[in-house]
Amino acid sequence: MCDLFRMNDISENLKSILHKISRTAREYNHAPEGVTLVAVSKMQPPEKIAAMLAAGQRVFGENRVQDAQERWSDLRGQYADLILHLIGPLQTNKVRDAVGLFDVIESVDRPDIVRALAREMKKQGRDLPCFVQVNTGAEPQKAGVWPGDLPALLSLCAQESLRVGGLMCIPPATEPPALHFAFLRQLAQQHGLAQLSMGMSSDYEKAVALGATHVRVGTALFGARE
Ligand SMILES: *Cc1c(COP(=O)(O)O)cnc(C)c1O
Repeated sequence: MCDLFRMNDISENLKSILHKISRTAREYNHAPEGVTLVAVSKMQPPEKIAAMLAAGQRVFGENRVQDAQERWSDLRGQYADLILHLIGPLQTNKVRDAVGLFDVIESVDRPDIVRALAREMKKQGRDLPCFVQVNTGAEPQKAGVWPGDLPALLSLCAQESLRVGGLMCIPPATEPPALHFAFLRQLAQQHGLAQLSMGMSSDYEKAVALGATHVRVGTALFGARE
């Protein structure tokens, strides 16, 4: 009973969020199919993830390499079309595992990680698309390259043949997110990057309005984390 209820809940949440994404995209003249919903499954119970998979969702985001490995290694075999995004900070000693498991790395933010990812991708023969994470609010405690250091980091990515398709940000909790989304879009335009990963449960519609190609939604889809 309980599982059945949750299952319906989750598929309703998914439908409703996909609907809001399409509606907002159309309203602001963006192609709805150009926006990918990344379902952030970190710290969610396996039953809810199973329900999300049953509802047809295939793109998921995780912020820790080891948790993601435990959760997704087996499921990978069952769902050939699964796409896993790493959205959390990456340490150099986790790069090998990250490259082995994930399909997209969203948290490229410093030179040693660029070099380590490039080396490991060559070794494993996996040419994964990446996003560079920008610390748009220049918050000292937060991951992401500072906006002023972005050009040099992108040059290094090019030199190392890392496939960067876009930029990602997590705006400061205390500021209007739209300012940061607009700033990220401007930075991406300056560097000829087409993809923008921005927007979470509380602000994904604003992000879509401002041109997000990827929104990362956790609690609005799954409910509160454990
Ligand atoms: C947890 C997390 C999210 C999802 O947050 P919600 O508010 O639950 O939607 C999105 N992006 C990143 C980088 C996260 O760590």
